[in-house]
Amino acid sequence: MRPRQTGGCACGAVRYHVHGPLRDVIDCHCSDCRRATGHHAALTAAARDDVEITGEVRWFASTPGTRRGFCPTCGSPLFWDTIGRHRLWIHAGSLDLPTGLRTRGHVFVADISDYYTITDGLPQRPGDDEELSK
Ligand SMILES: [Zn+2]
Ligand SMILES: [Zn+2]
Repeated sequence: MRPRQTGGCACGAVRYHVHGPLRDVIDCHCSDCRRATGHHAALTAAARDDVEITGEVRWFASTPGTRRGFCPTCGSPLFWDTIGRHRLWIHAGSLDLPTGLRTRGHVFVADISDYYTITDGLPQRPGDDEELSK
């Protein structure tokens, strides 16, 4: 099957192909994403079975039941995985252009840092949101 979308880390050691649809992007402002990415996380998602990864990904158990995947060579954040869910979340900045995606909204804005404000008029949720994350 032809990949629908491709992406990878900054140094090129990890590449991935996505063979199915990608969800539009959710910005997560939680403190865990803030520290792990240096700002907020911008995450798309795809069915786990549709994502084919080449190269070594290092996984870090960040919160109970979740793990973050990154390139062990350059440190680029690539994936966010909730154990047992059928979808793998992908850091949207790692996608090759054009992504064809739009930002859909913001979650965990209760944890937002104090050096920026959200001004795009998109939906904001204080914590997790099943509907936005679908
Ligand atoms: Zn890398
Ligand atoms: Zn987060």
